[in-house]
Amino acid sequence: MKMRRFEEELLSLLRKTLGEAREPLQLHEPEFNEADVELVTDCVRSGWVSSVGKYVDQFERDLEKITGARRAVAVCNGTAALHVCLKVAGVEPDDEVLVPSLTFVATANAIRYQFAIPHFVDVETATLGVDPDKLRKYLEAATEIKNNQLFNIKTGRKIKALIVMHAFGHPCRMEKLVEVAQDFKLELIEDAAESLGSYYKNKHTGTFARLAALSFNGNKIVTTGGGGAVLISDEDLGKHVKHLTTTAKLSHPWAFNHDEVGYNYRLPNLNAALGCAQLRKLGSFVEDKRKLANRYLKNSQDYSLLKFCAEPADSKSNYWLNTVLIESMTQEDQPQLFEHCHKAGYITRPAWTPLHRLKMYSSFPKMDLTNTEWLAARLVNLPSSAKLVRDI
Ligand SMILES: *Cc1c(COP(=O)(O)O)cnc(C)c1O
Repeated sequence: MKMRRFEEELLSLLRKTLGEAREPLQLHEPEFNEADVELVTDCVRSGWVSSVGKYVDQFERDLEKITGARRAVAVCNGTAALHVCLKVAGVEPDDEVLVPSLTFVATANAIRYQFAIPHFVDVETATLGVDPDKLRKYLEAATEIKNNQLFNIKTGRKIKALIVMHAFGHPCRMEKLVEVAQDFKLELIEDAAESLGSYYKNKHTGTFARLAALSFNGNKIVTTGGGGAVLISDEDLGKHVKHLTTTAKLSHPWAFNHDEVGYNYRLPNLNAALGCAQLRKLGSFVEDKRKLANRYLKNSQDYSLLKFCAEPADSKSNYWLNTVLIESMTQEDQPQLFEHCHKAGYITRPAWTPLHRLKMYSSFPKMDLTNTEWLAARLVNLPSSAKLVRDI
């Protein structure tokens, strides 16, 4: 396999930034120390490992402090968090929900859990998130507002909500997106699964909308093994989210009474204990990841075919996954590029297959997705673990 120029440049950037890979360097590895072991052990010793316990409460209060959200409710994973956001936003069967095609599949799956219809929208190359200007133009042409609700002219269906996603930790242009949501009567939901520790104009991602979802899966910036959280901007709605995700049980010393169909989406105390220990290290993880990103950015300037995806204007990114854009490559170049990188010990991967191309999502409504298609063929995620910066 003869290497093409952009492959040589990418391998050279990886070697220069990370050194020779003596073992495969993963995209993102979780990191634990004695503090994690201590809190998890304490949780096991206490006997309270399941659905009640002090760590769940502590984890929620810590998340509120870090993000500035009015209320955080811990749940069993990020997908469940998204589902709950849609449920309490009032998304009903056959409603349409605007969602980027360039996201992890869970964002759209959560829409289908409500039997609603994903309606795919395009992203912009500068932020990798939903393009507010292009979306506004599209909605002006393709929708109408009747009785204070937005309708898709072509399908006749109500468009209830807009989900935006902060890709790889880079914040979307939230001010503009909030305006679009307001002008078109859309409930805005942030999928902030990848952006804990990222800020837009000094405000934490996930606090611009009334509802947002976080994930603490093993590959995210901090992990609870599996876990997630809903961020809520108002107290009463926050109480409802807690109730709904904990089987909707009415508090009582012995009677089992429930006042709606609730979900068992609780985060076990055991996982929350790990989360509490992990959150104490979030600041240093972000700092190290930003150092690594700066190193990639600086080194990338020596290569004419590689464009490092730096944090967008007005924002501070957690650089969850470092990313380069290779303009001269195409979809067909992917297999060879990833094989070369993996053989050399650098685990890299493309962005997600755009969701509108997946079989189960191919027949849903969509706007022009030129940027999505273009980026999906050309984005490459690079090894991004915080500890890499300490190992060099
Ligand atoms: C990880 C992730 C999720 C889902 O989180 P889980 O905890 O794995 O269910 C949702 N959306 C995005 C963008 C993610 O990266």
